[in-house]
Amino acid sequence: MSTQTEQQRRILADMGIDVWLLRGETGATSADLSIASSVDVPDDGVSDSTAGVLAQQIERDSSSVAATALASLQKEVQACQACSLSKSRTQTVFGTGNAQAELLLIGEAPGAEEDRQGLPFVGKAGKLLDAMLYAIELERGQVFICNVLKCRPPNNRDPQAAEVEACTSFLTQQIEIIKPKVILALGRFAAHRLLQTEAPVYKMRESTNTLPGTDIPVVVTYHPASLLRNPEQKAQSWQDLCKVNHLLGLSKF
Ligand code: URA
Repeated sequence: MSTQTEQQRRILADMGIDVWLLRGETGATSADLSIASSVDVPDDGVSDSTAGVLAQQIERDSSSVAATALASLQKEVQACQACSLSKSRTQTVFGTGNAQAELLLIGEAPGAEEDRQGLPFVGKAGKLLDAMLYAIELERGQVFICNVLKCRPPNNRDPQAAEVEACTSFLTQQIEIIKPKVILALGRFAAHRLLQTEAPVYKMRESTNTLPGTDIPVVVTYHPASLLRNPEQKAQSWQDLCKVNHLLGLSKF
């Protein structure tokens, strides 16, 4: 833990994780951390890192077959009219990040801000997601982030079965192209789609899951929006991130 920066320690503290330092080590003490300021989420809900995110939107490295395949799939998604969400959306939200990422994060569906910007997780929940990634020393450009649905359900209602069905092959193709080493399912909805189960999140968190038909591990954790509503879940979420780190072979925490 001694390699964490002050900011990472603050994020961990915000997630309810006590960090104990060796005597003589500089930096925050666990007592300091218990009163450390929380991750700041602006009221307008737009992450400060949005500009950086835009720059990271699908890295189109011409030498990457995966990037080319994703760019072509993105065009298909943009033209999709398979369900009624195509009529109410401002734009599609395909996903963002590295086409050859080892870690693929999958959420539920775009919200209002995502629909406006065309990028996943750019609202308040997105800012928390950025902080969670930062805590395990990853950033958006190193992972790929997308949703089960590529269009926003009106008024942020739950996605309907027919909408999931209409969108499902896009997610399947994204997984096939990116070939992640690990998938992190953000919340019940993504986990149910990926694992073809109706189990509650707390059960799926505890079990060892793989994507059906593959040996890709699927770690299930709480949706960042749920963490904002229930901060006491953050400690469990940290355990899930440690699991991800371990599966990626980055075992540092
Ligand atoms: N919630 C999600 O599940 N996905 C987003 O992109 C934003 C919020």
